[in-house]
Amino acid sequence: MSIIQAQRQLSVYRSCSVRNVSTTSSKPERVYRHPRLKLVAACGAAGLSLAAYFFSLRESRSTSTRIELLPLSQFTPATLTSSENSGPNTKLLTLSIPQHLLPPPSSCDLDPIWSVYIKDDDIQVERPYTPLEGIDEHGRMSFWIKKYETGEVSRWLHSKHVGDTIEIRGQIKTWIWKDNTWDEIVLISGGTGITPFYQLLNNILNRTPSNSNSKTHFTLFHSSRIPSELPPPSMLRTLGHFAEKQPDRFKMHLFVDSKDMSTNISVPSQKLQVGIISKSAIMRSLGLDASNSWWQRLYKRISTSNSAQLDHKILFLVCGPDQMIAAIAGPYGRNRSQGEVGGILGELGYTSSQVRKL
Ligand SMILES: Cc1cc2nc3c(=O)[nH]c(=O)nc-3n(C[C@H](O)[C@H](O)[C@H](O)COP(=O)(O)OP(=O)(O)OC[C@H]3O[C@@H](n4cnc5c(N)ncnc54)[C@H](O)[C@@H]3O)c2cc1C
Repeated sequence: MSIIQAQRQLSVYRSCSVRNVSTTSSKPERVYRHPRLKLVAACGAAGLSLAAYFFSLRESRSTSTRIELLPLSQFTPATLTSSENSGPNTKLLTLSIPQHLLPPPSSCDLDPIWSVYIKDDDIQVERPYTPLEGIDEHGRMSFWIKKYETGEVSRWLHSKHVGDTIEIRGQIKTWIWKDNTWDEIVLISGGTGITPFYQLLNNILNRTPSNSNSKTHFTLFHSSRIPSELPPPSMLRTLGHFAEKQPDRFKMHLFVDSKDMSTNISVPSQKLQVGIISKSAIMRSLGLDASNSWWQRLYKRISTSNSAQLDHKILFLVCGPDQMIAAIAGPYGRNRSQGEVGGILGELGYTSSQVRKL
C-alpha cells in the first residue's frame, strides 16, 4: 500500500468512525462506518432530542398548570361573594377570584382532595379550608366553615361581609385520588370533617361514564352532634342524589349524637341513626358478621385466604375532631403524623396502608 493510499484510508476511517474508546465501558459501542450513516444518525439523534425537549416542555407545562392553581408563595385577593348561615355555628361562604387572576380553565380541573390557605388579615395567620366543589370557571369556591368560639381564623371569617376582600394562596394536596386503585373507600367524618369527602365524592360521582373508568365503591359514615348541625341542605341533597342514582357506587349513613329538639328538613328522621358511629355499624356495612368474636373472624380470614375477600382493596379515610379520629382509627402520632392504627379499625385488624387520618 502506497503512503497516499494509507493516508486516504486513515482519513476515511477518522471521518467515518465514531468510536468510544473508553476501556471501562463494557457496553457494545455503536460504530458508524459511513459518513452518510453518521449524518442520518446525528439528524435522528437531534430530532429525538428536540422531540423529547418539546414533549417534556409540554408535560412540565401541563403538570405545573394542573398543580399550581394559585401561587403558593404569595396571597391572591378574593372577594367574599356570598355568606349564608347554615346552622348554629356554621356558614357557607363563597369566595371569587377575579377573572384576570384565574389560571387557564384546564388548571381549574383539579383532582381531589385539595385545600387553600385563607389568611386572617388582622393578625396575619392562615388556616387551610376545603373548597366543596373545587373551583368553577368563574373562579368561585364555596366553603362550609365552622366557627370555634376561641378560634382565630374561623371567627374572623364568620365576621366578614359580602364584598370584603379575603386573601388566599395556593392549593395544598391533602390526599391524592387515583382511579381504580381501591375497590372500596370508606369515608368516616365528624362535623366539618365531611368537607374533603364531599369534594372527593362530588368530583368522582359527577363524572360522566365516558369521563371515568373508576369502579371504586364509596361508603360515607358521617356524624354531627344534633340534626341542626348536619351539613347544609345543598350538600345533603347532592349526596342523597348520588346515593339514590348510583346505589352501586355510593352509600351514605348519617348519625347524630342525640335528636334533641332540633330538626333538619333535608334528612327524614328515619334516615338518621342516633348514637356514635359504632364498630357494628361499620362491620354491617362491610358485610362482616358483628356477632362473631375476633377469633372467629380471624379464623374466617385465614380459611378464606384464597378467596376474593382478601384481594378486596379497601381504604378508610377518617376526618373530624381529634377524639373521633382516636376512637375510630387511633390517635395521631407526634407532630400530627399518622400514628399507629388503633380504635375500631385497629380492633378490626386494618393496617396503616389501609387507614389514612386526614
Ligand atoms: C387540610 C385541612 C382542611 C380543612 N378544611 C376545613 C373546612 O373546609 N371547613 C372548616 O370549618 N375547617 C376546616 N379545617 C380546619 C381549619 O383549618 C381550622 O383548623 C379551624 O377553622 C380552626 O381554626 P381557628 O383559627 O378558628 O382556630 P384556632 O385558633 O386554631 O383554635 C382555637 C380553638 O379551636 C379548637 N379547634 C381548632 N380546630 C379544631 C377542629 N378542627 N376541631 C375541634 N376543635 C378545633 C382548638 O382546640 C382551640 O381550642 C381544615 C383543616 C385542614 C388541616
